[in-house]
Amino acid sequence: MRNDDFPPPIKKLALKRANNRCERCWTEKDLEFHHITPVRFGGKKTLENCLVFCHNCHNIAPSDIFLLKNIFLRFSSSKEMIHHYKVENEYEALKCICGEKGVNYEEIKQKFYHDPFSHTDAVKEGMKLRAEKIGHSGFNIPFGYDYKDGVLKILPNEAEVVRSIYSQYLSGKSLDEIVKMLNLAKIPTKRGGSWAKKTISTILKNPVYCGYHRYEEKLTRGIHNKIIDAKIYKEIQKLICEKGGKQKNYDF
Ligand SMILES: [Zn+2]
Repeated sequence: MRNDDFPPPIKKLALKRANNRCERCWTEKDLEFHHITPVRFGGKKTLENCLVFCHNCHNIAPSDIFLLKNIFLRFSSSKEMIHHYKVENEYEALKCICGEKGVNYEEIKQKFYHDPFSHTDAVKEGMKLRAEKIGHSGFNIPFGYDYKDGVLKILPNEAEVVRSIYSQYLSGKSLDEIVKMLNLAKIPTKRGGSWAKKTISTILKNPVYCGYHRYEEKLTRGIHNKIIDAKIYKEIQKLICEKGGKQKNYDF
């Protein structure tokens, strides 16, 4: 057991308070005693400074109190954290938490990034679940990309098609003409079918191609590589508007 040097009466009280369960995940197995403030930082062997954790939770518990109380004890995974705040990733969730608590986000972000717990499976789980989800619901992989290890990865062949669609449209070609050209060239869509105007217009309006994610009409910078320059994307939106279509106007 790590740092397991609370006096027996304190352990007994802590177990009673915790109903003989891990105070994070509620398992009853392999219980250990965690110092909220580590002994090396002057943490005392008191009930107030003691948490009952299972071996797994104990192993990954962050040493920073803010992270421990506001993330580790509240959420079982980054997925839960992201879901709770209805945001795109754990850093945006962290921003919300910092806002709620009135603490400096940049400072906490550094701590979070450097704490081993933020790199554990428990925190990465969200990304994994999302990757698994892609196959059947909600999240369609945009043409031009593959989705691996939680990140969109450029597929060079498809990216070339995306660039060509953008440049054709920019040079004045209509959606019909672009559809015709792609179908004649026998270039498959993501689902292996033929192209339609709607597919092309979706590609022309999707900010994912200049490195952003759209979530409920709000843009966030993604961690994936862009295929199209933001400048070109904006020109395209202007052009769509001039041709009487509904353009997407975002502030980058
Ligand atoms: Zn646990």
